[in-house]
Amino acid sequence: MQDRPVALVTGANKGIGHAIAKELAARGHTVLVGSRDLARGEAAAREITGDARAIALDVTNAGSIAAAAARIRRELGRLDVLVNNAGIAKGPAQSGVTVDEIALSGRPSVASLADVRDVFETNVFGVIAVTQAMLPLLREAPAGRIVNVSSRLGSMTWLSDPATSVRGVGGVAYSPSKSALNAVTIAFAHELAGTAIKVNAVCPGYVATDLNNHSGTRTVAEGAREPVRLALLGPDGPTGTFSDDAGPIPW
Ligand code: NAP
Repeated sequence: MQDRPVALVTGANKGIGHAIAKELAARGHTVLVGSRDLARGEAAAREITGDARAIALDVTNAGSIAAAAARIRRELGRLDVLVNNAGIAKGPAQSGVTVDEIALSGRPSVASLADVRDVFETNVFGVIAVTQAMLPLLREAPAGRIVNVSSRLGSMTWLSDPATSVRGVGGVAYSPSKSALNAVTIAFAHELAGTAIKVNAVCPGYVATDLNNHSGTRTVAEGAREPVRLALLGPDGPTGTFSDDAGPIPW
């Protein structure tokens, strides 16, 4: 087993995940750059200064998840940080459309059930599956940390406030998937409360990435700030929380 702590970031070949991987490598972690396409993961890892290694990981594929967990145990023998970052806002059939078009096609009355299932498969079931597969390694770590990259659009308190400006933007797929992810975060935090592992959900803010056709107003480095803080929490840090870099977000 190596001395240096190990972090796995899912969906780290681009966007916020890549920025999180870059920052964790800069802070001395061996970072596993999760990517469903290994070649793109390798290219992304080469852009990171420090010990960054690509790992093939499709969070919707049980075989891929099991192979990644086996490789981590075999090659590194430890896992300290899991950042469940991989996420989608829409089904594959909707790629290339604008945020406004997604909002329209994601309306509860007309959304395609296949798209809703695709979004939940990645954003919710993928997180549960990857977390379950990595937990044996995280339990062995001195200070295991799990960070689930959620969204303010999953806050039911915020979405149900008539004054909220972007009500409805998250439709019936993305927003509910992040609400479910928040509940999943609480469930894991509850079960793991008696261990050294901390489990928290985070919103990176509105960040310019492929996810929103680069309409976001923050940089990926800004979006990575709170996820990285939660990944590096000390022993007195919280578990079972939902926050952005301005503080707690209501569930
Ligand atoms: P992005 O640039 O589109 O990156 C998404 C990443 O997830 C990509 O690496 C993508 O891989 C990966 N991914 C998608 N499906 C996957 C799967 N089945 N298995 C493994 N990886 C998969 O989007 P982003 O904005 O950085 O999003 C990162 C996270 O932040 C998401 O969870 C998103 O919901 C959340 N978030 C973003 C914003 C924002 O404003 N951007 C706001 C709130 C929350 P491919 O390249 O192979 O597609």
